Amino acid sequence: MTEKDLKEFEDRLLAERKRIVKEMGHLESTVLKVNPRDSAGDLSGYSFHMADAGTDAYEREKAFLFASSEGRLLMEIDDALRRLYRGEYGSCESCGKPISRARLEAMPATRMCVACKEKEERATRGAQ
Ligand SMILES: [Zn+2]
Repeated sequence: MTEKDLKEFEDRLLAERKRIVKEMGHLESTVLKVNPRDSAGDLSGYSFHMADAGTDAYEREKAFLFASSEGRLLMEIDDALRRLYRGEYGSCESCGKPISRARLEAMPATRMCVACKEKEERATRGAQ
């Protein structure tokens, strides 16, 4: 994946994030705020409050976010952005192999390759 590709996915993720945050407009949440480190537009300087895991506020916010599908999607997007800034974007979280470009374009926030996702879904269904 090239710098240009990453930038493209970053733009898509940020745009999607903006849309969801707007939809969830009523929600006043520390988790939802992204803080640019400076105003020069250096996106690599973005930091996420969710990185401060383990605090009571974080746990409350997380429980709240998980209660809605928008919240879950938002967390997936934040997660994808964190991976992107760490240089891990596009690799399957489960097997570490690159996720196909077509899959990323269809679902920029995806964490797993098709094979691992299917495995997970089979396992989830089996457990029910
Ligand atoms: Zn995989």
